[in-house]
Amino acid sequence: MRVSKAFLPTVKEIPADATIPSHQLMLRAGMMRQLTAGVYAYLPMMYKAMMKAMQIIREEMNAIGGQEFHLPALNPESLWVQTGRRNIPNFILSIKERDLVLAPTHEEVIGWIASMHIQSYKDLPQTWYQIQTKFRNEPRPRSGVLRGRQFTMKDSYSLDRTWEDLDKSYDAHAEAYRNIFTRCGLKFFVVGASSGAMGGTGSQEFMVEAEHGEDTVGMCDGCGYAANMEIATSGISPAGKGNDKPKPVEIQTPGVKTIDDLAAFLKVPHERLAKSRVYIQGKKPVLVLTVGNDQVNESKLGAALGNGEFHAADPETLLRLTGADAGSIGPIGFNGRIIADKRLEGASGLISGANKNDYHLGGIDLLRDVQGVEYKDVRTIENGEPCATCGKPLRIANAIELGHIFKLGTKYSDALNIRYLDENGQSQVVIMGSYGIGVERIIACALEQSHDANGIIWPAALAPYDAHVVAVNMNNKEIVLAANQVYNALKAAGVVALLDDRATVSPGFKFKDADLLGMPIQVIVGEKGLKNGQLELKIRRTGERIMVPVSEAASKVKELVSAL
Ligand code: ATP
Ligand code: MG
Repeated sequence: MRVSKAFLPTVKEIPADATIPSHQLMLRAGMMRQLTAGVYAYLPMMYKAMMKAMQIIREEMNAIGGQEFHLPALNPESLWVQTGRRNIPNFILSIKERDLVLAPTHEEVIGWIASMHIQSYKDLPQTWYQIQTKFRNEPRPRSGVLRGRQFTMKDSYSLDRTWEDLDKSYDAHAEAYRNIFTRCGLKFFVVGASSGAMGGTGSQEFMVEAEHGEDTVGMCDGCGYAANMEIATSGISPAGKGNDKPKPVEIQTPGVKTIDDLAAFLKVPHERLAKSRVYIQGKKPVLVLTVGNDQVNESKLGAALGNGEFHAADPETLLRLTGADAGSIGPIGFNGRIIADKRLEGASGLISGANKNDYHLGGIDLLRDVQGVEYKDVRTIENGEPCATCGKPLRIANAIELGHIFKLGTKYSDALNIRYLDENGQSQVVIMGSYGIGVERIIACALEQSHDANGIIWPAALAPYDAHVVAVNMNNKEIVLAANQVYNALKAAGVVALLDDRATVSPGFKFKDADLLGMPIQVIVGEKGLKNGQLELKIRRTGERIMVPVSEAASKVKELVSAL
């Protein structure tokens, strides 16, 4: 492509509304423009990179036996009623008078096809995939294409006879994902993840560590443990036994509201303090107890509570339910479900609110004094806590989720009646898996990981062009001749090149654009080199410069590109 003819709207200034590098670079390099919040127009430079990523995805999906579909984004809402997902907050559009919704994912449509056509064990296993536009009502679409309201996903679905077969499909996907992200030149890691609203029995996420990632993960550099904070656990010690009393005793704590104040006032360690928070699920109150300042992890709590929306009780509700304000609530005498964090299992000598303002109770033995407490892991781990596996300190890092693989099990097969007849003619339910990759996120992560102050440094596998030929001065006939010669030779050698042949732009400007656009190899055709019949090759990543004779330039570029 000749830059003089290309639509390549690069900009010098860093756009004010873009705060993270990938977003800034995509705007500066003319890769995309925002149409409205979370909705982007992809310009040719972006789409070329996306197509390269999609090609890699296709090859690896085909390698595990995947068959490519293209499913409708517009779905009848009745299908979503059938799976109980009509009311997920994800829908961006529903056309009421036609009973249609825009699909945020495709378990439903896949299930619809499978329920019609999977009949016998001979029809299984199947792996079906597509690369298609998804629509989600993201509440805060920031960070550019990392969180769009419209985005491109590779989604695949496995249909199997048994749970063991599901494990095989899942492992095959995990392997394909490793290949995909490795080929894309990304540094990634895999974490255990929550199955969340999808249901299912197991899930893992493929993550890229990134300062601006919206996910947080707990990881151990000692043994390699890594988990999304939604499920991460640590080896932090239990609260254990304290100063035991025959029964709880009332302690006056005037004006003491926070855990820190209480610890200071009573001169006790945080481990002796059990903090209570009240949530409402459905219409029912749930008291959640944690140690000291431990934070309640809402994902873990959601899993512990089971299905159904829940929220923190407001101050009036708290007062009505317990007779006290937030700082003085406790488990003794609480009327409702009580979930205590695992750290509190077997704990005694605890101090907690007395359900009476300005009073606490001491000497609490949870097992003895409170009936029916459920012990669940509901706390959020903190940086530096010991790893549960090897004891080394855990590190909490921000990350971007590139892909997610789920063992769905039978949730959708049950709802949509996806069944097959086994060898004995018995009807059996199909076991499903579901697997997603965000195409734009691959590109954004590549840019987050690989850029410098001057611009993008494309991993070769995703680069829109392999090489960027810069004709330094279009008024110099020799330069024009040599630039065209090398451009044609590159084409003949199968190297996809961009030729900056603009006549009205200064050399400095061209060099800046070449660095900003970030193709792996720059071929600089200038007066100085040509005096000796040479061109200059610049490797974008290292800045290394090599002089080569004009006639050998194309083969040298090809050699460099394939080595990247
Ligand atoms: P997140 O936790 O980031 O909201 P998710 O868990 O809802 O994502 P999945 O349903 O697992 O996402 O979708 C599969 C993949 O699609 C994700 O791993 C991610 O790469 C991509 N993806 C999801 N939501 C978006 C979005 N709003 N914009 C861009 N890509 C997305
Ligand atoms: Mg996910």
